[in-house]
Amino acid sequence: MKYKELKIAENQKVEIEYSKIKNDDFLVKSTVFNVGHGKINDTEILHSIANDSSNEEYHLKTEEEAIKKCEEIYRKWQDIPSCSGGYSNEGTADLIVYIPNNRKDIDDIIANFILDVKGQMAYKGYLKIKEDDYGNDKQYWKELLKKIPYKEVSTNHFAVNLWIPGYLNNEVEISKYFLNIDKVIKSINENKKGWGRVICPNCGEEKFEYSAQNDRADGLCRNNCGFRIHTYI
Ligand SMILES: [Zn+2]
Repeated sequence: MKYKELKIAENQKVEIEYSKIKNDDFLVKSTVFNVGHGKINDTEILHSIANDSSNEEYHLKTEEEAIKKCEEIYRKWQDIPSCSGGYSNEGTADLIVYIPNNRKDIDDIIANFILDVKGQMAYKGYLKIKEDDYGNDKQYWKELLKKIPYKEVSTNHFAVNLWIPGYLNNEVEISKYFLNIDKVIKSINENKKGWGRVICPNCGEEKFEYSAQNDRADGLCRNNCGFRIHTYI
C-alpha cells in the first residue's frame, strides 16, 4: 500500500510504499518518477536530483518496522534540497529550487545549484561566456542573486529566473531588465487576459506578445528588440 508520495523537484516525485509478501515479510519500496520526460510544457529539464538508482528496497519483519522505514525514507527526501529547471523555445531559462524548512541558507543553496547547471546554461547559450571567464565560484552567484530576486512560488519552492545572455556582468542592463519586467507585468495584469499583446516597455511598440497562466508569464517582443520574459507574476 502506498505510504506517502513526495514531490522532490518540479518534475520529479518519489513514491514510498510497503506491502506484505510471502514468508510474512514486509517489503518497503521507494521509487523515483520523472514526471514527464525531456520537455515539460515549453521547458526542458536542466537538472534532476534523482534517477532509477535512487530507488530503494528493504525487507522487514513487522508492519511497525516497515512503517518506520517508510517514514525514515520520507524524511530523508524531505531534507534534501533539490532543483529542476528548464529553458524555453524563446531562449529563457529558469530554476525551481526546493529548500527544506530547516534550511536557512537559501542564497547558498540556490547559488550551488546555479553553479551546478552553469555548464548546461553556457552550452545552451544563456551565458555568453567562456567557461573560465567568471561565475566559477559560489560567491559570484550569491552576489548576482542580490540583483536577480527569487520568489517563493509554492511552499518551499523558489523560482529563480535565469536568462540574460550577456547581461550578467552588466549591472545597468540587469536593473533595466527588471524595471521592464515590472512594467510589462503591470500591463499584463491590466489587460486581464491570459494572452495578448501589450506595449513593449523596451522599445515602446505595441508588439509584446505574452501568455499568462496561473502565476506564470512568458512572452517576447515581436518587434525583435530582444525583450522577453519567462517569469512568475
Ligand atoms: Zn520591444
